[in-house]
Amino acid sequence: MVFILKHYDVIFIHPPRVLKPEYGKNAKFVRGSFIFIPMGVFAIADFLEKEGFGVKIINYPLEQYLNRNWELTNFLKNIDFDVCGIDLHWIHNAHGAIEVAKIVKKVNPNAKVILGGYSASYYHNQILKYYKAVDGIIRGEGEVPLLKYVQSVKKNQSLDSVPNLSYRDSSKQIKVNSLTYAAKTLDNLNFTNVSLLKNAKQYFECSRQMMGIAFNLPIGRGCPFNCPYCGGGQRAQEYISGRKEVVLRSPEKVVEDISNILNKFKISSVFFGHGTYPANLKYWKKLFGLIQKEKLDISGDLEIWRLPFPKEMWKVFYKTFSRRYSSISISPRTLSSRVQQKITKFCDPTFKFPKSQVLELIKNANLFRMTLRIWLTIGFPFQTRFDVLKDFEFAMNCLLKYGKSNLKPITIMSEPYHIFPGSPAYKSPKTFGIKLKYNSFLKVADIFKRSKNSFFYNVINYNTDHFSSTSILNANKLFFLSTALMHLTTGRKT
Ligand code: SF4
Repeated sequence: MVFILKHYDVIFIHPPRVLKPEYGKNAKFVRGSFIFIPMGVFAIADFLEKEGFGVKIINYPLEQYLNRNWELTNFLKNIDFDVCGIDLHWIHNAHGAIEVAKIVKKVNPNAKVILGGYSASYYHNQILKYYKAVDGIIRGEGEVPLLKYVQSVKKNQSLDSVPNLSYRDSSKQIKVNSLTYAAKTLDNLNFTNVSLLKNAKQYFECSRQMMGIAFNLPIGRGCPFNCPYCGGGQRAQEYISGRKEVVLRSPEKVVEDISNILNKFKISSVFFGHGTYPANLKYWKKLFGLIQKEKLDISGDLEIWRLPFPKEMWKVFYKTFSRRYSSISISPRTLSSRVQQKITKFCDPTFKFPKSQVLELIKNANLFRMTLRIWLTIGFPFQTRFDVLKDFEFAMNCLLKYGKSNLKPITIMSEPYHIFPGSPAYKSPKTFGIKLKYNSFLKVADIFKRSKNSFFYNVINYNTDHFSSTSILNANKLFFLSTALMHLTTGRKT
């Protein structure tokens, strides 16, 4: 009897952080296994399928979570494929992405292995230089470049004209094609064709359970700001993706997505993959108005990227979403006006989160009984021990006022931060009083190889003038634990 393997033109694999994580009993709390697939992967997969290619998405950490004995090698041996795309968007997938590439090449040496995402884009030269299992990297935005790549591979044509591609040519030389593609509109893309994903239903259930978010919904691409540690800000994106400005999807398309996904998978909440700031408040109002009009029964997770977030916005948000899983988050990282002023001077003039306006947010959150999360950190640039003590005092005051009541939905969170490749602090650490610890891809992949999955983010890649990486990790843990009561009493009752 002859077995014919199921054939795909392209498979996408979302890599794990570590290949064989030790989950133990608390698996469902292991946020660090990070099962989220970058939002763009669905759109790229759908884009290829529409062009007639057979496509499948596999989520490695999800598969392993569902079945501890699941092996990528066995899975790959039972299918046939020509191209394998691996996302290396978030840097914590550095080790996992490379290991997956090696496994793919071992099982199917004729398949082309392509990496994509911000981190792969940033380190494209080093990855191609050191890892022979990787054939190419699509830098920046991927739908059109990957389609062109797959078409060229299928026809055995030259790769010279594939936009945004870095690759090794037939004489093993690294070639870097120009970065010419960045989407002008996103309305031709479908971000919810999740039927291409193996175990899609479980993906939503586990996302909610492990990460606290059921579905990440793309709203646009780009960001007009430059927060010091972020690799997705305006200058970073211009460097990595060639994206010069923000593009937002039409609110009608976004509502269509919510409606589709709600009907198919009965998800409880959506996280909006773009934040609010003065220049886009009108957009959000329009979007929320449409959600109300469609009577979609869902919770929403929204981020405030820049203040103000007026009372009127709270009212619209309150009227639009069911309270149960809804939240509004803001990440000033510290309330020290001295630190914020320094950031406005060196990095981003809009980085202003005055305490008076944060207190106004708290007032409105209490008024509308909507969860407000305020994200702080220890280890922000220019932050001293005194600044941290002041932030801690603020958090303790909130704990005393709001910690015991479900009706006062305020939470102060503290988390250690990673300085992402391409961010302002990564590119000029000295300006921010920072020393980076791992500044080559080899070192980065190695540190993630040695790290363990844990609830707390545990790879701190820097020391500041005032804090070592170890104290950043431990102090953030302590801060988080001391305010945990607020987290536990927030949003538990409808
Ligand atoms: S952290 Fe700052 S720079 Fe990064 S996406 Fe958010 S607002 Fe933009």
